[in-house]
Amino acid sequence: MKIAVIGSGYVGLVAGACLAENGNEVSCVDKDAAKVRMLQRGRIPIYEPGLEELVKRNRAEKRLTFTTNLPQGVRNAQIVFIAVGTPTGEDGSADLRHVMDVAEQIGKAMNGYKVIVDKSTVPVGTAEKVRQVVRKHTNHPFSVVSNSEFHKQGAAIEDFMKPDRVVIGVEDQRAGEIMKELYAPFTRTGAPIMMMDCASAELCKYAANAMLATRISFMNEISNVCEAFGANVDQVRRAVASDRRIGPAFLFPGVGYGGSCFPKDVKAIVRFSGEKKYDFQILKAVEVVNERQKLRLLVKMKQHFGSLEGKKIAVWGLSFKPRTDDMREAPAVPLINGILDEGATVVAYDPEAMKVAKGIFGTRIQLAEKSYAALNGADALAIVTEWNEFREPDFTRIRKQMRTPVIFDGRNLYNPDHIRGLGFTYYSMGRP
Ligand code: NAD
Repeated sequence: MKIAVIGSGYVGLVAGACLAENGNEVSCVDKDAAKVRMLQRGRIPIYEPGLEELVKRNRAEKRLTFTTNLPQGVRNAQIVFIAVGTPTGEDGSADLRHVMDVAEQIGKAMNGYKVIVDKSTVPVGTAEKVRQVVRKHTNHPFSVVSNSEFHKQGAAIEDFMKPDRVVIGVEDQRAGEIMKELYAPFTRTGAPIMMMDCASAELCKYAANAMLATRISFMNEISNVCEAFGANVDQVRRAVASDRRIGPAFLFPGVGYGGSCFPKDVKAIVRFSGEKKYDFQILKAVEVVNERQKLRLLVKMKQHFGSLEGKKIAVWGLSFKPRTDDMREAPAVPLINGILDEGATVVAYDPEAMKVAKGIFGTRIQLAEKSYAALNGADALAIVTEWNEFREPDFTRIRKQMRTPVIFDGRNLYNPDHIRGLGFTYYSMGRP
């Protein structure tokens, strides 16, 4: 099929590359000319495992092209995906400016029947708004479909190629059949294609993300209560996870959720529920707990040192989770700002997010080229993101390089008895 994907970010680029991989002819459109030039030269503006090879292969096969020319991309396509950002607006709602702008441009470029697919995460009722905007600018027939993306950054290709399910909101059969045909190659392993009305489809994405965010905040609270009573969250988690009604995923305590989705989607669902006079109390609490949890390591540092004035803190991990360079709403940011506010200096390292971190912190922190280089003369090491390379480091080397061997582990990477046996003072999450 001939497809245009508008927006070449984490979602659009992955969707475009994966759709091309299955034989479709895909034109990725973005208004950011520098990004498009980079992609046209075969360079990838973001880090996502496997994406570079996929883009290279499909570019070479001429199934994947990049352009800033939205009208041309739309005119050549039978299916047009909208995959632009929907950031949090000033009042907490999802800012639909980019989506509506694209809808208008699609309307103006229409030259025949097309399926217009909302891939961005958008509040309930957006498909109808997109329909109205497009209709204003064209008499050609079209269908609007809601098809939120559920992939996880860091495993986005795998998730897109082999999704758990594909949720499609449609209002007419013609678009439903086209979408089924498009996704058939991705669901050969038996994953369901769930067809429903647009409002339900739009809510699915928010419900899933809000549920996951709730699990995280819930477990972080359990972990904090474990600390208060000297209980061990690992034992509690294992027992809770063995209940088949609960299951083991998303039960690890940490430094709070971040990224471009959970924080903004939790805010948005609270906001649009409020517009219907529904007070979504649980999610308001989920957010408060998460903000507090992001500073949990700072509280532990202050308890340990008394004052952080003049201390040098090494930080391992800056991205909001491993296998991505994305630092949007990353817990590392408020934590580092908090450490700096207390008068300490920070030397940080991340395997992929250094460039992004430079943009956020400038010269306020030092960035180390390698993980061990961050440790020289450090009074403490804070582990914020659970990259694999931090899991089994050379502790003898770490001890030698640090001024004082103190570790604040926000991800419970190490065995407390073992690491204390090596001479470290060790603080983790929810474990005595
Ligand atoms: P992003 O910011 O990485 O990418 C958006 C892209 O759209 C940018 O390259 C921007 O230049 C482009 N753009 C904006 N306005 C445009 C316009 N008028 N014309 C052409 N291009 C335009 O965002 P993202 O992370 O890919 O997220 C996109 C949407 O998908 C959001 O609604 C997000 O909530 C949702 N989502 C994201 C993820 C994720 O893993 N990041 C997962 C699921 C859903």
